[in-house]
Amino acid sequence: MRKGIFVTFCLLLILGFIGPTSDAGAAAYFHDVSTTHRAAKEINYLAQGKIVQGSLSGYFYPSKYVTRAEAAAIIGRTLNFNGTQRATSFKDVGKGNFASGYIQEAAEKNIINGYKDGTFRPEQLVTRGEMALLINRAYSFGGNTTSQAIHQLMDKGIAQGFTNGTFGQDQPIIRADFAVFVARAINPKFRINYELTAIQQATVNASALNVRQGPSTNFDTVAVLKKGQKVDVLHIVGSWAYVRASGIEGFVHTAYLSGISSSNPTNQLLQYLKTQTIIIDPGHGAHDPGAVANGLKEKDINLSVALKVKSLFQDTGFNIALTRESDVFVSLSDRVNFAKKMNGNVFVSIHTNAGGGTGTETYYYSAAATNPYVEKSKKLAQCIQKRLVEAWNAADRGVKKGNLHVLRENNMPAVLVELGFIDRKEDAAKLGSSYWQGKAAKAIYLGILDYYASESGLNFQPLYDRVQ
Ligand SMILES: [Zn+2]
Repeated sequence: MRKGIFVTFCLLLILGFIGPTSDAGAAAYFHDVSTTHRAAKEINYLAQGKIVQGSLSGYFYPSKYVTRAEAAAIIGRTLNFNGTQRATSFKDVGKGNFASGYIQEAAEKNIINGYKDGTFRPEQLVTRGEMALLINRAYSFGGNTTSQAIHQLMDKGIAQGFTNGTFGQDQPIIRADFAVFVARAINPKFRINYELTAIQQATVNASALNVRQGPSTNFDTVAVLKKGQKVDVLHIVGSWAYVRASGIEGFVHTAYLSGISSSNPTNQLLQYLKTQTIIIDPGHGAHDPGAVANGLKEKDINLSVALKVKSLFQDTGFNIALTRESDVFVSLSDRVNFAKKMNGNVFVSIHTNAGGGTGTETYYYSAAATNPYVEKSKKLAQCIQKRLVEAWNAADRGVKKGNLHVLRENNMPAVLVELGFIDRKEDAAKLGSSYWQGKAAKAIYLGILDYYASESGLNFQPLYDRVQ
């Protein structure tokens, strides 16, 4: 055992992993990051946690630009991803890529995405805007667009932007700056004028719990907590919690805390939502108007309601995609192919009825042979139908089985709603009204939330609150 450690130590010396120490005796890990370097604190902090690495000869290259592969590795290490090199789902990232394990896990967790052509482009430089999004996704700060993500970083004391008031979102980011942002994101002590408040309380359930400077056992222990001690949880990084207890602040593993979910409820919900893609399918389009009556065309109503549903889901954390966003023709098979390509998790087709009835009905496909999600489809149909009937005070024609292409050929919970009858005066008055279309869109939004709340067991209150 001891011999093994000694051999490892010598090997590390030979390989140059153990860097020089400065005159002052403070840990310095890299020849080119002196203790007076503006980012020395943050770089050395991340080096202590083995989150950033230098060259074999002990250089960090603080002014070099960060590639996408390096960014995935650095972020992945903060979250204790298994970095073992392996095959990935990207055609340009082989098992031989040093970051392949991190890239694959980060992609699976929707922290960093590939490109439509199936590449990841590991050598492409990361811009400051991309960095902001990456950090938001990795630590669930909630920003979904680049500008929201930048706003979150400013808000949390992680970024300040340039003195000219811009953030330089299109500029590539250098390693020193990336290290500063990541250190501030994971450890609030590095942030600028930022006071954390407790998000929940927890109790230590291990007999002696090491409190560490960072979110892994690579970091030094700063204190030890006793079993039964109460702590305030201030911040979560992966499976580690940043806690405060009687003057002590630092990271502990969440496995040793009772009364804590692995992340705070809001974070947990956001983590979940970003894995979910909702496909909205406005029926018909272009030369195919669908049903036509009372001066209305079905294709226009379907699209208008779909766009309203989209805007309700915008910025919730869910991914949302429409099979068409304008008056164009999309074949039934292309609608299904699009949903599959987008890795949709639910599919909602919006239509308008005709044929002399009145009221609302919702369809699902009931034979598992082609679309296995029969029970989930039925549940989704029931949730949306209930909300639509309430919203429009419409005749409830119920949830029905239907052998329809977009339901049958799909591979996700899929439903088709018929909002009302275009050839019935009373229904048409609502179908053609922006106000009532808005109510239908909100009902579809709420129906999808009802479905998800029951499927996931998570608290969707923040999303319900948005439309109250
Ligand atoms: Zn139709």
